[in-house]
Amino acid sequence: MKLILLGAPGAGKGTQAEILSEKLGIPTVSTGNIIRAAIRDKTALGVEAQSYVDSGGLVPDIIVVRMLQEYLRENNCTDGYILDGFPRNVQQAQTLEEMGVSIDHVVNLCVDDETIRQRLGGRMVCSGCGCSYHIAYKPPQVANICDSCGSALIVRKDDTPETIDERLRVYHEATEPLVKYYGKKGILSMVNGSCSMNRITENILNLVLLTVR
Ligand code: AMP
Repeated sequence: MKLILLGAPGAGKGTQAEILSEKLGIPTVSTGNIIRAAIRDKTALGVEAQSYVDSGGLVPDIIVVRMLQEYLRENNCTDGYILDGFPRNVQQAQTLEEMGVSIDHVVNLCVDDETIRQRLGGRMVCSGCGCSYHIAYKPPQVANICDSCGSALIVRKDDTPETIDERLRVYHEATEPLVKYYGKKGILSMVNGSCSMNRITENILNLVLLTVR
């Protein structure tokens, strides 16, 4: 199965992708994580991508698509995957089709902008495995330490208030049109992203398992 999780930054795509990956037995492919790893490792593409990520903008399609293609080639994704953070605009969605990737289902996690600001404002991520936490809604058991792998938790550079506003603006301008795009293809479901984490997972699973090819 190939599933796309759509939604604003902070809508819960990463968290749901981690849970669904385990339940469905398919990997998550997160372009945000791929880009952050490339920046951390100072690869040529990572160095090019850094300023776009830091300012809250989108990394140019040509760079992201190359990173995604490399990742899919080097990792075992033959049984399908969950795409988190890709596509981010209509051009990327068309590129996915040109790559011959056939998507079974697209889930849009709907969360209003104010909730997004609160969520991203208190977010911390694991510097080791990338797991997400929140200072109020999902604190780690030990302060600043990841429950899963024990690495230090950090605040992402692009989770500052100004950058959050820019990411929301970019989301509405570039990414939100994908809701219409996939709606027209008849493979889109809308899921309320403001319920409890478990309820959201349940709703997504009900939808995707009903329509799996
Ligand atoms: P995320 O972790 O999905 O919020 O992504 C973090 C940042 O990585 C975004 O704000 C963008 O700068 C960049 N990014 C991630 N995925 C994409 C994509 N598909 N296209 C362009 N930029 C991306």
